[in-house]
Amino acid sequence: VREGADGVGLFRTEFLFLGRPEPPEELEQLRRYETMLRAVAPRPVVLRTVDLGADKLLGTAPAPGAPGIPSGLRGLRLVLQHPELWQAQLRAVLRAAAEGPLKLLLPMVGGPEELRAARDVVERTAEQLAAEGLAHRVPPIGVMVEVPAAALRAEALAAEADFLSVGSNDLVQYTLAAPRDEPAAATFADPLDPAVVELLDRVADAARRHGRPLTLCGDLAADLHALPLLLGLGYRRLSVPVASLPLVRAAVRRLRIEEAEQLAREAREAASAAQVRALLRKRFGPHLGEMWAEQYPDADH
Ligand code: PEP
Ligand code: MG
Repeated sequence: VREGADGVGLFRTEFLFLGRPEPPEELEQLRRYETMLRAVAPRPVVLRTVDLGADKLLGTAPAPGAPGIPSGLRGLRLVLQHPELWQAQLRAVLRAAAEGPLKLLLPMVGGPEELRAARDVVERTAEQLAAEGLAHRVPPIGVMVEVPAAALRAEALAAEADFLSVGSNDLVQYTLAAPRDEPAAATFADPLDPAVVELLDRVADAARRHGRPLTLCGDLAADLHALPLLLGLGYRRLSVPVASLPLVRAAVRRLRIEEAEQLAREAREAASAAQVRALLRKRFGPHLGEMWAEQYPDADH
């Protein structure tokens, strides 16, 4: 709030779960969500349901990588198969939503069927709370677009989700087959790769056509090199680490949206990430060059 954020763009709730054998209890979660809402009120909090699996494990969760449990079993997929992992969470989320502008975001959604399955669980949880006479509200439900399949089906997802949020870290790793935890793959994980740009464009287009709020999360959101392209493609909400907030806000103010849109039109036709970077340098180096140098002192700008 001190740095001027408009809200919490991504509350990664799995950090409440890690390093303990069982999911935190409903009341503990409720208190934490209420505390967050109160701290940023009247700004909204986008709370992401637990994204366990892959590199984030709970003591009791079946370990991905163990025989028969592939590492692709994470996020929403994992909780749909193991509902005990998020039952207390959903109850706490719905109860907290009665008290402030909370939105619920689902991680690792593969397509509209999974969104529907999650909605069913949320509706059943609401019925349970109603039967118990507990105050609650079903918040807007959004999907993270971070699996390429979800980006390809953005149109169908935008038709049903209340909002969309691109998870650029996972979208880049899965699109380019460049695992986040493998340093040797880092050179392949270029977020300005034309394949990623095409998916980002597709998602922005679907959100626009359905009038759905759209956010970009993950490292790309705070990358000042990519900023003009993101704005030009239609991204207007960025979820960034607090430490990056002042720099990103200052950079946004230096840009003109018409120029960013022109850049995006050219970048859509680019044949390589290098070409996109050259376009960015040519058009925006004069406006953002010093900020690029400040953000990445060792890079070649
Ligand atoms: C992402 O994938 O970009 C994202 C925001 O989620 P996380 O980094 O927590 O996987
Ligand atoms: Mg992710």
